[in-house]
Amino acid sequence: MLKTTKLAASLGTLAVILMMVGTRVAGASQLPDPNKAGVAEKLYRLDCGHSLANDESVWTPGENVGRDIEFSSTCWLIKHGSEWLLWDTGVPESSLNDPRGWSTLPKLIVYHLDKSLTDQLAEIGLKPGDIGRVAISHTHGDHIGNMGLFPNSTILMQRAEYSWIHSADGPNDNVNQLMALARKLMGTPKKLQLIDGDTDVFGDGSVTLVSTPGHTPGHQSLLVHLRKSGFILLSGDVVHLEENFEKNIVPSLNTSKPESIASMARARQLIATDKATFFINHDKSQTDKLRLIPAFYD
Ligand SMILES: [Zn+2]
Repeated sequence: MLKTTKLAASLGTLAVILMMVGTRVAGASQLPDPNKAGVAEKLYRLDCGHSLANDESVWTPGENVGRDIEFSSTCWLIKHGSEWLLWDTGVPESSLNDPRGWSTLPKLIVYHLDKSLTDQLAEIGLKPGDIGRVAISHTHGDHIGNMGLFPNSTILMQRAEYSWIHSADGPNDNVNQLMALARKLMGTPKKLQLIDGDTDVFGDGSVTLVSTPGHTPGHQSLLVHLRKSGFILLSGDVVHLEENFEKNIVPSLNTSKPESIASMARARQLIATDKATFFINHDKSQTDKLRLIPAFYD
């Protein structure tokens, strides 16, 4: 019985991987040709919070039970010509310097914010109103906490993600709680651009939204091409930790295990074909070593 279930799960994963690989081969995908892709000018990291969770095994099932873990939360700002694109909006500014912190799932994790997004944008002379487009990896609260700062920006998200948060509750209470918070934080964006699968944002191969479902149904990652740094893949939450990526571990909060495994395989494939650097949003030990605004990658 167990064997049959495992076999079914593996076949499911294989089917999803083949489907995804097939997309690229068939040319339906908007992934850039590494030899022809245009470039964005600058990529800035913004500190969008940090968190403490009381049981790492939620993210590494079967391992690290009851162990504390600290995560980083990262937003990224991209300059393309005269246009600005923000990737994720982080922990809400209302929690700035609040010693009690803020939470998406209070029994599990508490977030803290030491710097506001607005102040970090001001470091390079920008206001939230200067950001033309905001793309979100997915709708967990720590990634969309400041949507309210961008009422006039075009919001780019996968249609599957939007449909999911507006669908009926499922069996996992934690996931249902995350969906309810997502609806509240998303509000009703004035300019919502729902996308289906991989999308070339500026039409020149410099910035590409890459469909990597599994953590949530419409999760996506972002592939950025820069002149000196080459390709950089921003994870979103396709993985949380370097170790999960190496061992193919799927967090218990993810909505689909086969899709999660297929999306990790997809990230590996992109990293290989585009010789991309991989920045893992929540991996604090990696994030702490990266450049921070006003410094940038180009
Ligand atoms: Zn998440």
